Amino acid sequence: DIGRTAAKLGTPAYLVGGCVRDLLQNHPAPDTDLAIEGDVRAVAEACTAQLSGMQCTYHPQFGTAILEYPDGFRLDLARCRVEHYPAPAALPEVRPGDIVADLARRDFTINAMAISLDPGSFGDFLDPHGGRMDLQHGLLRVLHPLSFVDDPTRILRGLRFAVRFHLRLEPGTHVLLKTALARDIFARLSGARLWRELKYVLELDDLAGVFEKLDAWQLWPLLRPVPPKSETLLSSMQRGQQEIAWFHRHCPGEKLFDTAVLLTLIWRHIPWAEAEKRLHCWPVTDGHHILRDLQFLSEVSEALAKATRPSAAAQLWASLSLPGILALLAEHPESDAVAESGRHYLLKQRGLKSPLSGRDLQAMGLAPGPQLGKVLRRLYEAHLDGEIEDKETARQWLIR
Ligand code: ATP
Repeated sequence: DIGRTAAKLGTPAYLVGGCVRDLLQNHPAPDTDLAIEGDVRAVAEACTAQLSGMQCTYHPQFGTAILEYPDGFRLDLARCRVEHYPAPAALPEVRPGDIVADLARRDFTINAMAISLDPGSFGDFLDPHGGRMDLQHGLLRVLHPLSFVDDPTRILRGLRFAVRFHLRLEPGTHVLLKTALARDIFARLSGARLWRELKYVLELDDLAGVFEKLDAWQLWPLLRPVPPKSETLLSSMQRGQQEIAWFHRHCPGEKLFDTAVLLTLIWRHIPWAEAEKRLHCWPVTDGHHILRDLQFLSEVSEALAKATRPSAAAQLWASLSLPGILALLAEHPESDAVAESGRHYLLKQRGLKSPLSGRDLQAMGLAPGPQLGKVLRRLYEAHLDGEIEDKETARQWLIR
């Protein structure tokens, strides 16, 4: 229908990018992208007018639109464009183009295929760069020699595709990768763009695949010095993934910055300054928490092994951020005492409130002041230790 609507407005429409690649591989496509040679807004609005319940969001600054069907299906519409990179790693200058130019600006051959939705050529497959053949041979190939220099994020995008679809670098592309790294191309990239891509890499399930590519493509320095024993780091991060999954299962809906757990494990046993050097451009609050945890994790871990009372352990756990807690859990076998105390803290102790408030204590005759603060603290500890449960047992405990 979209193809017909676009044709009525005099513009062809194409299915493009990742969804064509995923269709060829029989993978479910997470999102569906359309490239429109003409006016995106006009096409999006005409489609919305045809189907009741369809939502349209138009972004004038990017010339893109999102169409949401009543059943939740989503289409991303963008104008076909030509890109020119004024300098290495700079953001591109963009102007409208046709579908051929639009495919030529893309990152890899496997992402530079299109399927026509125009009624006159419906279903025609456009593959000017040989993406289908590369996909069949398991090859990741850039479209032109300056691709990685223009946009180094493509290296990390490529790493993701290589891991997800078990691809290897086409030899010429491998040479281009080495040339771009020899030019220290990542140094020109803004920190925010680099970290966004690194985050996507660390979100992949197959961390063993990620490690293999980081080794083979010599990309470790983006994250840390090359690990001397990568199997040890890999298994600690895989444990980290299990702890993240455990947390989401037991605390559904609670926000956790998953990547921070893995980064804490990545940086756990390297000099602090090495981590700080890499974190200088991370969004401030998250980076700050990770660096603080890294300073205290060993100390907290040792103190936890000695803590005899649940209230003492709770205070130690509370000194770490949530990702720091999960990173520490990942370092302990699931059933050891520290791990148990950590899970107990997260599930039971974290949300506990003292059964009696300062106002309750004043009503019982205690004068406001430091003494009252001390009693409140002791009450809370007794509550964490399971000695008191409610107002009544708290009152009895106070009297005793
Ligand atoms: P995923 O399954 O991860 O969503 P995708 O290929 O759809 O894969 P997107 O990031 O949604 O990934 O990008 C959509 C398309 O836009 C890509 O297939 C590619 O053709 C193009 N593209 C995205 N980022 C770049 C880039 N940095 N350089 C060139 N082309 C890009």
